[in-house]
Amino acid sequence: MAAGEPDTECLFCKIVAGDVPATVVRETKDVIAFADINPQAPVHILVIPRAHYANAGELGAVAPELAGTLLAEAAAVAAEQDLDGGYRLVFNTGAGAGQTVFHVHAHLLGGRGLTWPPG
Ligand code: 5GP
Ligand code: ZN
Repeated sequence: MAAGEPDTECLFCKIVAGDVPATVVRETKDVIAFADINPQAPVHILVIPRAHYANAGELGAVAPELAGTLLAEAAAVAAEQDLDGGYRLVFNTGAGAGQTVFHVHAHLLGGRGLTWPPG
């Protein structure tokens, strides 16, 4: 399967296709943002490209313009969610870092104090 092509086995490709329901908070032609099913903060939104790339590194290498769009859209979601006090974007990359869905996604976390460093 080529980077950027849909993966019929991928949960987030199914959400993009509308085959799995999600609470969508923002969408554009390239990017969709929806609530995480298991929120770790009062605001926990996943921001993903519609196209399938396995992780942030692959996205940045193969489609850098889309990577920039994803970051800009994440900032737009944060503004819509009134996260003026700050927020965190996380790209878990690889199973050892906790990545469980291999379609690149930014976790947008906010609405509470966020400690550093994370676990
Ligand atoms: P990862 O562990 O790959 O960094 O993040 C995957 C995220 O997807 C997790 O935070 C998990 O709670 C979320 N997730 C898993 N399945 C679903 C689902 O069916 N719907 C939604 N909205 N989020 C999901
Ligand atoms: Zn996918």
